Amino acid sequence: MTPDPALPPAVVAAPPAGRPHFASLGWRLTVLLGSCLILASAVAAWLSARHLGNRLLDQSRSSVLRIADVVKRSTRYTMLHNRSEDTNQTVQNIGQQPGMEHVRIFSKDGRIAYSSKPDEVGRKVDLSAEACYQCHAVAQPLTHLDSPQRARIFRGDSDARVMAAIDVVYNEPGCSAAGCHRPPAEQKVLGVVDVGVSLKEIDQRIAVAGTGNLLFALAGTVFACGLLGLLVFTFVTRPVRSLLAGIRRVSAGHLDQSLPVTSADEVGQLAVAFNQMTVDLRAARNELNAWARTLEQQVEEKTKDLQVAQAQVIRAEKLSSLGILAAGVAHELNSPLTGILTFATLLLQDTPKDSRQREDLQLIVNETNRCAAIIRQLLEFSRDSGPQKRSHDLAQVLERTVALVERQAKFHNVKIAVTVAPDLPSVSCDGSEMEQVFLNLLINAAEAMPEGGSIAVRAVTAPGPRVLVEFADTGVGIPPENLGRIFDPFFTTKPVGKGTGLGLSVSHGIVRRHGGTIAVQSTVGKGTTFTIELPAAVAQEALR
Ligand code: ADP
Ligand code: MG
Repeated sequence: MTPDPALPPAVVAAPPAGRPHFASLGWRLTVLLGSCLILASAVAAWLSARHLGNRLLDQSRSSVLRIADVVKRSTRYTMLHNRSEDTNQTVQNIGQQPGMEHVRIFSKDGRIAYSSKPDEVGRKVDLSAEACYQCHAVAQPLTHLDSPQRARIFRGDSDARVMAAIDVVYNEPGCSAAGCHRPPAEQKVLGVVDVGVSLKEIDQRIAVAGTGNLLFALAGTVFACGLLGLLVFTFVTRPVRSLLAGIRRVSAGHLDQSLPVTSADEVGQLAVAFNQMTVDLRAARNELNAWARTLEQQVEEKTKDLQVAQAQVIRAEKLSSLGILAAGVAHELNSPLTGILTFATLLLQDTPKDSRQREDLQLIVNETNRCAAIIRQLLEFSRDSGPQKRSHDLAQVLERTVALVERQAKFHNVKIAVTVAPDLPSVSCDGSEMEQVFLNLLINAAEAMPEGGSIAVRAVTAPGPRVLVEFADTGVGIPPENLGRIFDPFFTTKPVGKGTGLGLSVSHGIVRRHGGTIAVQSTVGKGTTFTIELPAAVAQEALR
């Protein structure tokens, strides 16, 4: 079926063949969700690396604070007894431990008294230096710092980060009593222990962890994207494509296919709704086709009726012009024939009974009578005046006619069966004319069955109301090429002297004058049916 040109062009355009479907729903979903996944996992990897870094820094802060405390406690005794060599040794020992950046002890005035880096000893540092800044940021230096404030991170000499912590050495009663310095009792702070630990290793671990996290996240995301693509293809792209293919098939007119329903989700429901729509469309199309067929049939029937009516009109026209001709001829022949018959009869009366002439004269009288009968029929055929109509029961007319012919020789081997509908309405007609019509049809039927046969006469009511009288015989039938000519005057297939070819044309004229029609149906070798249709008397009354 080709698409209806009245419909709008197809809404669903197929993607160009051979190109990747970058505009497809599955592709866009995968790319969009994949991008979100990559972003989310990158942020998660970064946050996790940061969290790990913070934990490691917390750990190193507490261990630096602990080391500063250890230095302070380890040097307390030697400093109390002013054993600077031992103090120096302790500072060196701790400062050379792996990962240690420096160990220093500052005096109150900012001079480095001990250091794991010997070249620093004796150097006085600026009080705004990063080690001193926490306490000396304000005019009156702080004497106490909380643990977190005591630790700091800065870039060391080797550009690696260093976590350092200070611990304040307070004046104790033992200090002012012992040693050579004897600090005044009101001096609260004697100095500061400063310990630095390299963060190089921790920074490396943080970097490795960050890269590892990122790589793992990326690998996981790629895997998730693949899985996502597969799921999107299975649950979205494939069913949607199959829906699309179905829609294209339906728009091409193939309504007999349905889509497979593979899931109960929205796509499945869409397939169910689509299948239902296809079924509805199919039913609508079948209904339309049925209507079209019925319409075609009706048009065919009406065309046939029109053709029959047209043929009848043509025949009527032809017969009426032939009727005028026949009337003229009959009229002209009538007077000479009457003269011939009169004189022949007179001559016959004057001729002796056993003379040879008498036989010839008798032949002339007989043949002239035959000619007169034909001329009477011709005049009957061309008669213009209307019939003498009276209401007649056609059953009785039929009965009379059948009784008339039954005893004739040509009806000896013919069975006549008359069926009349019990409620047959009466017909307004000229009884003797109708008798003549029925007689013609019965004689024709009998002559078509020289070996015998049957004639079924049937009278029924038809809508209108009209009366149908059918004469169906089992005779030789009429060849199709003769069917259009049998109502013509003088058309006969019978030998000369047997048929005049006027029976049917006269009958046609009579029926027509009664406002009816006469039709024929025939199959060669099977039989012929003549159907006369006349208006019922009630219908004519109603028309008046
Ligand atoms: P006729 O009977 O004198 O020949 P009709 O007008 O009565 O003239 O009939 C014309 C022709 O129609 C007949 O010669 C015959 O060929 C044909 N015909 C009429 N009725 C029948 C019939 N019942 N069966 C076969 N042919 C018929
Ligand atoms: Mg006849």
